[in-house]
Amino acid sequence: MNSIVLKGAQLSDGREVDIRITADKIEAIGSNLAGDQVIDCSGLIALAGFVDLHTHLREPGYEASETVLTGTQSAALGGFTAVHAMANTDPVADTAGVVEQIRSLGIEAGYVDVFPIGAVTVGLEGKQLAELGAMAQSKAAVKVFSDDGKCVSDPLLMRRALEYVKAFGGVIAQHAQEPRLTEGAQMNAGLVSSELGLAGWPAVAEESIIARDVLLAEHVGSRIHICHLSTKGSVEIVRWAKSRGINVTAEVTPHHLLLTDELARSYDPIYKVNPPLRTEADVLALREALIDGTIDIVATDHAPHPIEAKDCEWNAAAFGMVGLETAASVAQLVLIESGKSDWKRLESVLSSKPAEIAGDGNHGELAVGRTANLTLIDPKAQRKIARETASKSVNNPYTDRELPGAVIHTIFNGRFTVLNGALQKQEEIA
Ligand SMILES: [Zn+2]
Ligand SMILES: [Zn+2]
Repeated sequence: MNSIVLKGAQLSDGREVDIRITADKIEAIGSNLAGDQVIDCSGLIALAGFVDLHTHLREPGYEASETVLTGTQSAALGGFTAVHAMANTDPVADTAGVVEQIRSLGIEAGYVDVFPIGAVTVGLEGKQLAELGAMAQSKAAVKVFSDDGKCVSDPLLMRRALEYVKAFGGVIAQHAQEPRLTEGAQMNAGLVSSELGLAGWPAVAEESIIARDVLLAEHVGSRIHICHLSTKGSVEIVRWAKSRGINVTAEVTPHHLLLTDELARSYDPIYKVNPPLRTEADVLALREALIDGTIDIVATDHAPHPIEAKDCEWNAAAFGMVGLETAASVAQLVLIESGKSDWKRLESVLSSKPAEIAGDGNHGELAVGRTANLTLIDPKAQRKIARETASKSVNNPYTDRELPGAVIHTIFNGRFTVLNGALQKQEEIA
């Protein structure tokens, strides 16, 4: 059986090792290992393959923006070996049939594990619970449910959803946005929105839902996951909930860790996103929370849009930005380059913890006997960001910025999806 040996890579705990992969398993970690295909990995950091709990792959229905194939290629280039695909497709992923279709498209593409997220409500309409049990029992084995893009704003529906998924260990991922407080909102409500004359999106619209939902989760005794925290107040609520023993996890996106509402002054809709970019004080609070563990994970909220949806006036433009190929670099900037955290934490927020939240045992740990899902990063690389390499969409807010680190190899189920920075065609890895 052919084996791959990754020579002289550094693990997140600092040990320099050889890693031998046979078939789809990590067979040995040690020194002086031999194998059929030996890859020099000196200077590279080897981490468990990244897991994105929040990706929009757009298929079925919006293939002009992205497909499962192009989205998962983009993911592999970003070091991911699993992505969780949000349900706001057309048709909406609210039945066993649709989630099974998305799961199959992922297997066909072959670049990462695609786990479909099931909608909480029928058609994302917030009126009637979707068939959560049928999606959980389907071949797609859905464990994460979300109406992302929309908030489950009805408290009774949210309570019922929490009760329902508790029975089978599922989790609701809430897009926290009180719709009545954000009607027509275009950007963060604050100094900049007043100056620009754009309708403001107040922090309280996010924070009031998070406060309500952590209390509902406590009441039901269920767990809850909060998508894309964007404000200092949201961090404080999650911190309070955790201190009270409430079973809540939270995510932050790369863009909310790096960009602020000052960018809206350009009137370039590339910076229009939901939830909106906030202030410097919010960014600092989010960074601190990611470092101290209040925020559990980084998730991309990769939201591809065709050029015409962004190449227009701010008010008419779509919300969202891509981010699969740059997420690890932003995490490295915030955790490593800042000197405030380490590779163990980066591996936790981009791999172990998202896998744990999703109940996924095939990702999240680089250890002997585990499925060979890993990524190798050159931490010293400096990249000037161009457009995404594989994604169909180019709404990338980091274009022309310098970011640290580069994904050199990605290995999914024991096969290279990315080798020396280049995407490996599916035929070559089959
Ligand atoms: Zn969202
Ligand atoms: Zn989203």
